[in-house]
Amino acid sequence: MAVQPGRPVHHARPVGPQVTPLLAGVCGYWSAAAGACGSTTAVRPYPVGPRCPAHCPSALAGRPHPDDLLRQVNAARAERDGQS
Ligand SMILES: [Zn+2]
Repeated sequence: MAVQPGRPVHHARPVGPQVTPLLAGVCGYWSAAAGACGSTTAVRPYPVGPRCPAHCPSALAGRPHPDDLLRQVNAARAERDGQS
């Protein structure tokens, strides 16, 4: 714990890696090779922190983005129901 002079010890902030606030609107993905992503495009909160579509948990796992799955389901339903 970093203790700052003049502040009570229970207000000291832990020293460690920076954690991006969940609703910061900036992708918090970081890799040793590429560094911080920092994208602000279509960033959403995930349990691991805010992530852009390229770094959301499904993308990192090699699976389709949930929005793409929803689009496919809606298109299949529209086709089934005879709508276009
Ligand atoms: Zn990102």
